[in-house]
Amino acid sequence: MNRCLSFAFFAALSISTHDEVHALVGVTKPRKVVVIGGGWAGFSAADALSRIQQQSDEQGGASAPAFDIEILDASPRGPGGLAAGWRTPKLDRPVEAGLHGFWREYQNTFAAIERIGLELDDVLTPFTPSILVSQSGRVALSPVLGDGYDKQKEEGSSKSDSTFGGGLAADPASLVTSRLAELLPPPLDLALLSEFEGDNPLATVDRLSGIGALGAWADFEQEDPKSWERYDNISAENLFKSIAGVTPVLYNELVSPLLHVLPMTPGYDCSAAAALSCLHVFALQTRGAFDVRWCRGTITEKIFNPWSEQLQERGNVYLRGGAKVTAITDLENDDIDVDASANKNNPSFRVSLNDGDDAIDADCIVFAIGGTSLKRLLPACPPLAKLPQTKAWKNFRGVTCVAVRLFFETEPLLLKEAMKDSPVVVCGANVGEIPELSETGFCIYDLERIQDSKDVVSAFEVDFFRADPLTSLTDEEVVRITLNAVTAAFKIPPIHENSLADLSVVRARDAVSHFCVGSASWSPDVKLSEGLYICGDWIDRTGHASWSTEKSVVTGIQAAATLADDFKTKTDIGVIPAAPDTPQLSALRQFARTIRGITPSVLKDMKPQAPWTFARRFF
Ligand SMILES: Cc1cc2nc3c(=O)[nH]c(=O)nc-3n(C[C@H](O)[C@H](O)[C@H](O)COP(=O)(O)OP(=O)(O)OC[C@H]3O[C@@H](n4cnc5c(N)ncnc54)[C@H](O)[C@@H]3O)c2cc1C
Repeated sequence: MNRCLSFAFFAALSISTHDEVHALVGVTKPRKVVVIGGGWAGFSAADALSRIQQQSDEQGGASAPAFDIEILDASPRGPGGLAAGWRTPKLDRPVEAGLHGFWREYQNTFAAIERIGLELDDVLTPFTPSILVSQSGRVALSPVLGDGYDKQKEEGSSKSDSTFGGGLAADPASLVTSRLAELLPPPLDLALLSEFEGDNPLATVDRLSGIGALGAWADFEQEDPKSWERYDNISAENLFKSIAGVTPVLYNELVSPLLHVLPMTPGYDCSAAAALSCLHVFALQTRGAFDVRWCRGTITEKIFNPWSEQLQERGNVYLRGGAKVTAITDLENDDIDVDASANKNNPSFRVSLNDGDDAIDADCIVFAIGGTSLKRLLPACPPLAKLPQTKAWKNFRGVTCVAVRLFFETEPLLLKEAMKDSPVVVCGANVGEIPELSETGFCIYDLERIQDSKDVVSAFEVDFFRADPLTSLTDEEVVRITLNAVTAAFKIPPIHENSLADLSVVRARDAVSHFCVGSASWSPDVKLSEGLYICGDWIDRTGHASWSTEKSVVTGIQAAATLADDFKTKTDIGVIPAAPDTPQLSALRQFARTIRGITPSVLKDMKPQAPWTFARRFF
């Protein structure tokens, strides 16, 4: 049976038995919490809330859940949100709306996976190196710099040797490289130890010009709202080119391709604050911060299905797929009674599903949906629309992604050979000067080396970011462009469509949060108003230094903790703090703070310039 249907069926059964149990033991009726969105954020919030028990004095300490939680998701395909996977109708092969990497500092996400009872190494691959490609060709191979991978190499793990970097793992020079990395502070380890291509236009002077960005990196403090204000009102392109003074070659070869695949947008359409935060979190914060591991199958099958089962077994979590929330109204009951012993039966909100097919009354709502979905829902939600901070949400934009999965009849040997150094290739925009990809970055994955599944034989995934021009094309046209892009990236002869056994094209329109100039000011805290909470990768930008999946997990836990606190209870899941600054960054930050401290207030908005851009003013 389809898992979503089985969840709905189970939910219907358990709701009635639950009420009977409460009547029997005399404990207070749990508060009803509706979580809208069944991705990382929604599941993290539900996980944290569902563990909380109420204490009943009359029963001499007997306990019952403090909350009944219903997770609603519009998708009928199964849990996981944007990270979800399913199977192709034709050949029952696994597909996803894009592959999702787990960066080394995803500590809260790793902890969430372990709480399900899963072994990280069973679910995720070892950390992989990655190849960076710009419009002029291969730029660099970024090695794995963290300890774990070094250990694997020393211990001669066959999986890592043969699967995750081949030449890099076996090459004695790479062992020297990793030893050298230990002596260098981040980000110099990554910048200096990446293996740059000999024929790439990046010269030493270009690489050195990156030092011009150090001032802004030190001056920007992730958890300081004033820092975000200062850097959110200019574009990343402006910051790197005009203020940090990086050379056009460094910008085109390194900065721009990374912006196209990390915040998934060109520099002119990306907030400088978002770029600084994103590059810090994904690449610069600690040794090996740029190291990524991947799920060994679809995230739904490997993580969300066991997670759903675990939540369901608690008896107070119900999951409904195919349940699109289309309106939310107040129940004219403005005062939320936070006294857990009140046994009240007067919920505050009515959540309507699928244009009025069904409705659920709730004490509290946790929104765990993307900004563009919320923008669409807002007019039908007076309790949200009346809040002043939601007025700005009309500005939300999303990044469109298109995920293409290609299953080959026989091994595409040239492609395999081109990717022998890494199963992951990161490409900037305008590769191959293909008109539809002029602003589109993409990643190429050799799935056979990442995923365990027997279904995945010679399968490659190509995920396009900011891929709006592809969405109106047919699958065949998208596949043709994909094969052209792949052959252009590696400069190999054309690959023919007739070598494909199966394919899948998933279009996710406006799906990923777009961190454009000014967007940080629209990002709310996890509590919107009494009874209304929110989580996701675009929430609380100035808080915990995290992005994407990790940010969704962190804000999910934070939203649950805030809700629990409002009802005078407490969740036992805490947020693991972001990595502390390295000693080198701490010293730089201290220096930047001192300079800020003596800067006249009229110049407070100024950003630290590279000496050479500053000097340019006078010559
Ligand atoms: C191609 C691609 C590649 C990515 N790569 C990475 C990566 O490598 N690493 C990484 O960390 N992140 C990556 N991301 C981003 C990552 O997927 C998101 O940050 C993360 O999944 C967000 O989780 P979430 O729970 O906050 O929201 P979502 O996953 O967006 O979940 C929201 C859910 O809400 C549901 N919903 C929306 N509206 C309604 C409604 N009205 N009623 C009911 N349900 C509704 C949706 O169906 C969805 O299931 C990538 C995203 C894409 C698309």
